[in-house]
Amino acid sequence: MTKEESVSIARQLESGRKYAEARGWEVVGEFIDDGVSATVNRPEDRKGWAALLAAGKFDAVVIWKVDRLARRVLDFLHADEALQTRGAGLVAVEDPIDMTSPQGRAFAVMLAVFGEMEAEGIRARVRAARAHLIKDGRFVGGGIPYGYRSTENPDGPGRVLEKDPERIGWLGEAVRLAQHGETVNAIATWLTAQEAPLPVRRKARLDPENRAWNRQTVEQLLRNPILAGMTPHNPGRAKSDKRADPFAVVRDEHGAPVIDESLALLTYEEFEQLQHSLDSRDSPQARKRSERKPTSAFLSRAVLCDDCDVFLYRGTNQKQPVLYCPRCRQTIGRSRLDSHLVDRLLAERGDEPRAGSTVRERWDAAGANELIRREILLSQTATLRVRRGVIGRYFDSERVLLEWLPSALSVEKSERPDDALVVVMSA
Ligand SMILES: [Zn+2]
Repeated sequence: MTKEESVSIARQLESGRKYAEARGWEVVGEFIDDGVSATVNRPEDRKGWAALLAAGKFDAVVIWKVDRLARRVLDFLHADEALQTRGAGLVAVEDPIDMTSPQGRAFAVMLAVFGEMEAEGIRARVRAARAHLIKDGRFVGGGIPYGYRSTENPDGPGRVLEKDPERIGWLGEAVRLAQHGETVNAIATWLTAQEAPLPVRRKARLDPENRAWNRQTVEQLLRNPILAGMTPHNPGRAKSDKRADPFAVVRDEHGAPVIDESLALLTYEEFEQLQHSLDSRDSPQARKRSERKPTSAFLSRAVLCDDCDVFLYRGTNQKQPVLYCPRCRQTIGRSRLDSHLVDRLLAERGDEPRAGSTVRERWDAAGANELIRREILLSQTATLRVRRGVIGRYFDSERVLLEWLPSALSVEKSERPDDALVVVMSA
């Protein structure tokens, strides 16, 4: 224990004692919890807390701050419940928390719930503001999709998207070929042979003599929700992740996609059908994926159904690997879910320490071993749940509720001190 930490723990204990004294309570015990384990473990898994619960009779537990005891509302409530069954309550020196009275308890629970709701509320407001701009037909930034261009908004401020007459015909042809079952490779070959103009940015950056289309570019076009007049929206995705999620689109307050008919080449149903046929296309890659993923143990007993609180099972749906809930039957496609989780794990948690090196190095060392990969993922997650999608089994990143454990890196940086628990008897 460093000197700084000892001072800090002493200060916590001292404050706890003063608090007890001010309320006329007698201190009957003091417990100290290891700081690092406290950030990652629920209170009931911590030594100090367990020792406290095993101790003799007491009426209240004084803690320094609530976030020292529990990082999540549920953990906090569990801790409180454990004390309640012993007829004791929790108070915090630094927070307006007093669980020793019914009013204090109701207030504390409200504070905790609002704290969690606030984060979700901010995300929802950003979504709503974007949806509003798009409903007005405004272009809200990001890359301009192939076949379109931005222009001054004739009805007000800002810019709007419109069809690009030079390219929209090629986009329409590519879509029609795909709808008739041509492979992405065949469409790329056809566009090259026809000397169809390439996407603007790509043409500028690359060798101007190179007129070849590739399958990635074509697949991106065919998967862009703009084909149905929708606006792609991938909140929280790493910038390096260029793969679009065809159903992560801007939605209105009722969850329905916001659609601009003037930009659409397909109806929503036609777009959905096109995505389905791209997903299940019998390319070697697709076939290999569907053979491999159903048996993949990577997400075995790892993802909870957000509605039912049970683990999702592995299975297949229309020959595609999926996870499904044995209770409510909600289903989510596996290929995109798996890569979404892996991308986020490596992008957001790659530098976290893991078994003497880092998550990223451990991941690379794990190779194709699904069980080790699973261990690495689960070692970082606090919450991994999936909620029902609007459109069947289709993957949508908004369906994935993923929270990481507190970062060990930030714990090291802030030199988080240990936690003191002062146990008191009321007078
Ligand atoms: Zn369920």
